[in-house]
Amino acid sequence: MFQLLSTYFLLTSLNLYDQSLKYPSMTRYQPIENNKILAQNREKNEQFNQLKQELEKAGFEVILALPPKRGAYGLLQVTTKKIWINPVVFDLHIALPTLIHESVHASQVCAGNGEITALGLTLEPINQARPFFQGYRDIHRKDLEREAYTVQTQPNSFDLALSLLREKCNL
Ligand SMILES: [Zn+2]
Repeated sequence: MFQLLSTYFLLTSLNLYDQSLKYPSMTRYQPIENNKILAQNREKNEQFNQLKQELEKAGFEVILALPPKRGAYGLLQVTTKKIWINPVVFDLHIALPTLIHESVHASQVCAGNGEITALGLTLEPINQARPFFQGYRDIHRKDLEREAYTVQTQPNSFDLALSLLREKCNL
């Protein structure tokens, strides 16, 4: 999969290079696009770090390592207040939504004073998010995951996650 992806990128850049020779204006246009992508990445990195710091202020330990559960991108252990973020999410460019998801679970831990409890959010999840939590048989667990996936998929997910964390953990 990664082999295929890198081949794809290589082909794309060769193609753009070729076009920029044919159309000189492309060489002026291209750096602007690259800067935009870099700026977006920088913003996401800053948001990731900010949310990580807030989680730490709330007493959670954020560990960038393989979670104890195989195949998980992120994991929160309620008893120890440890959050694992699988380093593969950085390669997949889903680090921020993964941390946002776990931060909702952290807010649920704060709201329940150490016992994870649903926040009672009135927000509706987007339809694409439904398959991710509807499979849970345990109603309590389904509720917790519904909230995490709902926040994670909102257009203002970062601000929402941050304000929930600050409110529920009294930061
Ligand atoms: Zn979850």
